[in-house]
Amino acid sequence: MKATEQLIERATRDLVDSKYAIALTGAGISTESGIPDFRGPSGIWTKNPEAERRAYLSYQEFLQDPKRWWEERLAGPSFLGDLEKVMPNAGHYALAELEKLGILKCVITQNVDALHEKAGTKNLLEYHGSVLKLRCASCGLRFSRHEFDLEKLRQEDQLPPRCPKCLGVIKSDGVAFGEPIPSDVAHQSLEEAWKCDLMLICGTSAVVYPFANLPRVARQRGEVTIIEVNAEPTSLTEERISDYLIQGKTGEILPRIVEEAKKIRK
Ligand code: NAD
Repeated sequence: MKATEQLIERATRDLVDSKYAIALTGAGISTESGIPDFRGPSGIWTKNPEAERRAYLSYQEFLQDPKRWWEERLAGPSFLGDLEKVMPNAGHYALAELEKLGILKCVITQNVDALHEKAGTKNLLEYHGSVLKLRCASCGLRFSRHEFDLEKLRQEDQLPPRCPKCLGVIKSDGVAFGEPIPSDVAHQSLEEAWKCDLMLICGTSAVVYPFANLPRVARQRGEVTIIEVNAEPTSLTEERISDYLIQGKTGEILPRIVEEAKKIRK
């Protein structure tokens, strides 16, 4: 049997035997939906370091001049493209299926693309926010993007949008570099990392903090199995934070795990 097949069987057994399994995901799980990652070989930052430099300035620009920030955002597509139209791939559906089977209790994603929500995952923490939502920068209340007619506000010179509850300035829910993680998802994610006895980490280089602390927090507790599914070894592999790496595409490996889990559950 090939090494990858053996690891898929091992991961399935570990998942089925776990009491509280959670998944952590990053940009890698969405590359098969056509969204580039940041630091993989074809990543946005890998190919265009200038785009990375600009992204680091965005939050300060929002704080200094939210009206201008909104005008610039509405003027063109984001560097990730038009994420509202993108569809989930087999990897997202596999995680939703593992939740339906009662195996996976929660998915914590760094992705802003809303593809886990579209694939049907229910217990979802969007650590860096979602393109489908807006968030009040003062009180933290979230809104569906469609609750605001941003184009109309632009035409009527009414930007930035204001929170109906506290009149604070509203920004997109996506967490910018340098912006604090909203406290609700930060706390809930930490709780999940403390609570889990299995962590399935899919498609992340695990170098963006504080998200990258979550596997390290879980490892400190000791009694946890940490599995990576990634195209290449990561810092978690090298530092032996993960117990093992299944090297390959999430869109191929995760559906295989679901298949095996269904066989065991029969
Ligand atoms: P990253 O770009 O740093 O790392 C992605 C990892 O996934 C790499 O190790 C890469 O080799 C691997 N990978 C790529 N395609 C894969 C596949 N099909 N199967 C398995 N592995 C694959 O991404 P990150 O760790 O998530 O950090 C980037 C940050 O940027 C995150 O905080 C995230 O918020 C944001 N981001 C989000 C999106 C999105 O929403 N889809 C896209 C790009 C960046």
